[in-house]
Amino acid sequence: MLDHDVIIVGGGLAGTRAAVEIARTLPDADIALIAKTHPIRSHSVAAQGGIAATLKNVDDTDSWEAHAFDTVKGSDYLADQDAVALLTQEAPGVVIDLEHMGVLFSRLEDGRIAQRAFGGHSHRRTCYAADKTGHAMLHELVNNLHRSGVTLYDEWYVMRAIVEEGVAKGVVAYHIESGRIEVMRAKILMLATGGYGRVFNTTSNDYASTGDGLAMAAQCGLPLEDMEFVQFHPTGLYPAGVLISEAVRGEGAYLRNANGDRFMENYAPKQMELAPRDITSRAIVMEVRAGRGINLDGSAGGPFVHLDLRHMGREKIMERVPFCWEEAHRLAGVDAAEEPMPVRPTAHYSMGGIPVNTRGQVRSSADGLTDGLYAAGECACVSVHGANRLGSNSLLECVVYGKLTGAAIAEDLPARKALDIDEEKYIEEAKVRIQGLLDRQGGERIDAVRQDLQDCMSEHCSVFRTDEVMSEGLAKLQAICERAGRVVLDDRSTVWNTELIEAMEIESLVVVAQTILNSALQRQESRGAHSREDFPDRDDPNFLKHTLAYYSPAGVEIRHMPVALGMFEPKERKY
Ligand SMILES: Cc1cc2nc3c(=O)[nH]c(=O)nc-3n(C[C@H](O)[C@H](O)[C@H](O)COP(=O)(O)OP(=O)(O)OC[C@H]3O[C@@H](n4cnc5c(N)ncnc54)[C@H](O)[C@@H]3O)c2cc1C
Repeated sequence: MLDHDVIIVGGGLAGTRAAVEIARTLPDADIALIAKTHPIRSHSVAAQGGIAATLKNVDDTDSWEAHAFDTVKGSDYLADQDAVALLTQEAPGVVIDLEHMGVLFSRLEDGRIAQRAFGGHSHRRTCYAADKTGHAMLHELVNNLHRSGVTLYDEWYVMRAIVEEGVAKGVVAYHIESGRIEVMRAKILMLATGGYGRVFNTTSNDYASTGDGLAMAAQCGLPLEDMEFVQFHPTGLYPAGVLISEAVRGEGAYLRNANGDRFMENYAPKQMELAPRDITSRAIVMEVRAGRGINLDGSAGGPFVHLDLRHMGREKIMERVPFCWEEAHRLAGVDAAEEPMPVRPTAHYSMGGIPVNTRGQVRSSADGLTDGLYAAGECACVSVHGANRLGSNSLLECVVYGKLTGAAIAEDLPARKALDIDEEKYIEEAKVRIQGLLDRQGGERIDAVRQDLQDCMSEHCSVFRTDEVMSEGLAKLQAICERAGRVVLDDRSTVWNTELIEAMEIESLVVVAQTILNSALQRQESRGAHSREDFPDRDDPNFLKHTLAYYSPAGVEIRHMPVALGMFEPKERKY
């Protein structure tokens, strides 16, 4: 058995920022960070547009209160306002701290950090490094990790969390290179495993975003919060779905339909292309449904709309959003300085996740906590995004709550002891699971099952939802779950067997998909990203509350938790 004081699962921004904070506070703590990819290949590295913070470098009328209001309004009033206040108050400090670590933010003429406009934000407050912000941030954090003596287990797949009688004790991990299985024990366990975009067939997320941490928590009997709120980003490049950052619209790009009209005029006349993502994605789907989408030959009636950058000029495009130009050029053959890009909504971000308080402690119920278990980043739900996240608030959440969770862990660690674990039992269980997959004869191909799962979710739980469509999806999903339990592998080795990892990831996708669909079915209202055609209005008297979904193989049980209000009274959202 391997022993550490703290184990962090996940090497993205949330996990690395927490590790750095613990190491800064307790230099002698024995910290381990486990990731199934190399940390620098975590999805955080792909973040493009920026990180919000009221530095007031371009707009001195901005304030943390304005940032908090925009965030709460963007969340359709479902965010916990105490968590939002912390997020927005801490923002300038964490950005300056990143700058001191060496992150190369883009600059104004006078040398201060530049800030751009972003959807749903009332002031220009998004700091950026061209359109490669995640890359700039994650590289410096990983450098700092190396400097602080954190033990790295990269390319180790965590198969399960060990939580016994409400106490976290460690994990069971599989070394992808050698096939070795280890029980790793810790006094404190933190999950920072990122999102689950791969539950859908069109997504901006990387292949590793399979919701493993959420599934691990759910399989320990812990609830998942607000899973019905899936963010569809308006501008996924057609057809691949890879992201064209909101920064492109922040820098002035237009959305146009088949008639060449800037259709956002009809949906958000004030904010236009910079309306929040839920509203913009719905607008695109409505245009396509009305026959004003575009086909690849330019005719009307097709599946996408145009993102038009031409008026920005080649020089500005190449300076501010060079990566987006390159993506469109490489993947769609479009020179964005000359032609518009084809875009449509793509599954992008998980507003819900493992419920935590503002110290990052994982909740076991509306009023209980799990001893020794913490979470932060996209896999967690401290609920700063509520029903809809604003762009550039997620990198911020990872860094602020990575830091605050790290600080809480450093504070709690001295009082904790290593607990007994029946190592043999867990090793045996893991061996049986892996051998079972390797030995299975006759069954379903992974690709086919995963494709059907992703198609099912995209068809039955997308931008617009109804009871009928989702219930049909749930029935299909039951059958797919059974098939997921029978997948058969071509590769039967235990050295670099990525197919085996994919087989385990499907088990995560299945758990996540079930909690999303069940949570979405029970919320009979429209709020933020959850848009029910059969319940088109927001219903505060009945649904101004968080969903807690408890998964078990027998089904998903739904309970609720109150929303922390306080600063801002719920109002109708207009942009
Ligand atoms: C293309 C794209 C662009 C984006 N742009 C922006 C932006 O400009 N601004 C913004 O605010 N947000 C943006 N976002 C959102 C933001 O980047 C993410 O929400 C955030 O980076 C998530 O960070 P994380 O640390 O929570 O997880 P991730 O960066 O996803 O890292 C997860 C880590 O967990 C590890 N892991 C997962 N499962 C296991 C397992 N079973 N065993 C071991 N390790 C495991 C992975 O290896 C990885 O290291 C963007 C997202 C995408 C997809």
